[in-house]
Amino acid sequence: MITEILSWEASGALEKSARLIREGEIVGIPTETVYGLGANAYNGEACLKVFKAKGRPADNPLIVHISGPSQAEEIAYTNALYYKLAERFMPGPLTIILPKRDIIPSEVTAGLDSVAIRCPVHSVARKIIELSGVPIAAPSANKSGMPSPTTAQHVYNDMNGIIPLIIDAGACDVGVESTVIKITDDSIMLLRPGAVTPQMLSEVCPSVTISKAVLEELKEGEVAQSPGMKYKHYAPKASLYLVAFDGDEFIRLVRERAQSENCVVMCYDEEISSLDGITLLPVGKRNDIKEQTKRLFDLLRHADEIGADVIYAHLPGKSGEELAMYNRMIRACSHRIIGG
Ligand code: AMP
Ligand code: MG
Repeated sequence: MITEILSWEASGALEKSARLIREGEIVGIPTETVYGLGANAYNGEACLKVFKAKGRPADNPLIVHISGPSQAEEIAYTNALYYKLAERFMPGPLTIILPKRDIIPSEVTAGLDSVAIRCPVHSVARKIIELSGVPIAAPSANKSGMPSPTTAQHVYNDMNGIIPLIIDAGACDVGVESTVIKITDDSIMLLRPGAVTPQMLSEVCPSVTISKAVLEELKEGEVAQSPGMKYKHYAPKASLYLVAFDGDEFIRLVRERAQSENCVVMCYDEEISSLDGITLLPVGKRNDIKEQTKRLFDLLRHADEIGADVIYAHLPGKSGEELAMYNRMIRACSHRIIGG
């Protein structure tokens, strides 16, 4: 199969993507979080193609993307808390899990009786959903286990020859996947952290619990509330080490290691001048968490492209906006944490 990349601005591009999706094909589509692999959520066979293209385990359900909060009524049983959250965070990078209606095939939800719903804020994603006329089931458009794609080129690198079309709308704004929550009438369980932080959620509903799998890697045999959290994720081919030391100690450690290893260092912009002679992948300014999050997956992929064996990076904090990076990086590093 030839994989075509079309700019979202190209004449007829969005109509073509919507037609392919409606007809049961799968298409790489931009969203504000990461690029997704979109399929007609009402078509079980099309959704199976997504699992096959990604090499995704069959028990890891897909998120269904809708064009506005009220479209959730077609596919799920909503409640008052859903609409309170929707008012504040939709459209945007928040996924809400609700009991599913029968119209959603079991292929989408991997047999679960709940469905994950998100309304993206990215105008191209919304346009494609509207034009297709159906909700779109879309996981991240990477090969399973690889860092999620934040550019059309990343999607191409993973999906060339496997999908017919990728819509290019430049780099994603957020850079990590959506916040995933499961809700009852009056409580929220955070299953995956993203740009919508626990603190932001607690402003709408005071009862927010953080699932154990968010802060730790699950041990063999432990049950994850969100199936995706049990899999190794986001990992580059190079061995990623997270360094808990900061300041001079960080500089000293990576300088020492760089002498004997084929390594790259993901450093803050402020550290560039102290690390001359070492291959650097600057992550942004020390306090610019948004920029660091946006670049994360691109830099992990880039480290592989330039053939690094080892990557050193700062261990992110666990609170606020940093939680999303922390969660992705501890999964990518397979317990390789130095210091702390
Ligand atoms: P991705 O589509 O790659 O961004 O991953 C979607 C995430 O949402 C995975 O971690 C899934 O396990 C999770 N998810 C989707 N649907 C459900 C559901 N019904 N219950 C729990 N987690 C879900
Ligand atoms: Mg994914």
